[in-house]
Amino acid sequence: MQQKTNEFLTRDDVINLNELASSISDYYFPESQIDPSLIATKNQITYSYGNYADSYHGLLEHLNGKFHIYINLDKLGHAYSERSRFTFGHELGHYFIDSHRVALASGQSPSHGSFTGFVSKNRAERQADYFASCLLMPENRFRAYCYRKKFQFRIIEELAGKFGTSISAAALRFCAIGNHPILVVCGFKGKIKWYWSSEDFRYKWLKHGKDRIPDDTVAGEYFELGKSPKTTEEVFAMDWFNIKFEEQAMEKFYEHAKCYGDYSISIIWEN
Ligand SMILES: [Zn+2]
Repeated sequence: MQQKTNEFLTRDDVINLNELASSISDYYFPESQIDPSLIATKNQITYSYGNYADSYHGLLEHLNGKFHIYINLDKLGHAYSERSRFTFGHELGHYFIDSHRVALASGQSPSHGSFTGFVSKNRAERQADYFASCLLMPENRFRAYCYRKKFQFRIIEELAGKFGTSISAAALRFCAIGNHPILVVCGFKGKIKWYWSSEDFRYKWLKHGKDRIPDDTVAGEYFELGKSPKTTEEVFAMDWFNIKFEEQAMEKFYEHAKCYGDYSISIIWEN
């Protein structure tokens, strides 16, 4: 999945955004869970939570030298929901990433509404999403929590709880700096919305490429048969991957899928 990783963000983005965001978090919140709104206040950025209907998740506005963040509760639930926190982190990304802030302040790129959570194909949006994920889950603490723990789905849930993020945000962070190779696949109506894996995950190609979720997977059965998964299930390499050799077919993997409405998030790993 090397290619896909590159499409998602460049290697430099991954390194630089992680350093930038983790250092901000460690500076303002060396011990406790990160509160993005407090980071805004400390940087003279004002903000408001409001009901802005279908317009956007969040917005960073620049007016007369001042920055203001809008968080749309109509899209994100309450002010301290995982998604509000993530969106707030994303908007802070547009402020702290030099090129974003300069473009905004100089009027080159006017205020734009953000749709957060790795749904946008726009590179600046993905950078801001990645910044948010590093800000909420700073590297050292995240690694310390994983240290010597055997991987199971519960680890992702615990990380999400500890850092106040969604399962998908915690899983993506785990791909980058976790201690066990995993693959994360986001499905939408049976199609693949995006997928990402740890660099050392053994399989690089999904069974149907970037197109659709394979039928014989946990997420596939959710979309095909309406089966709601509750636990971690065993799957075989041939269910998910484009395998080259027959002997790989029955290699055992685990899949834990969280499915809701039109969406699925699958975490896939082997022992
Ligand atoms: Zn944005």
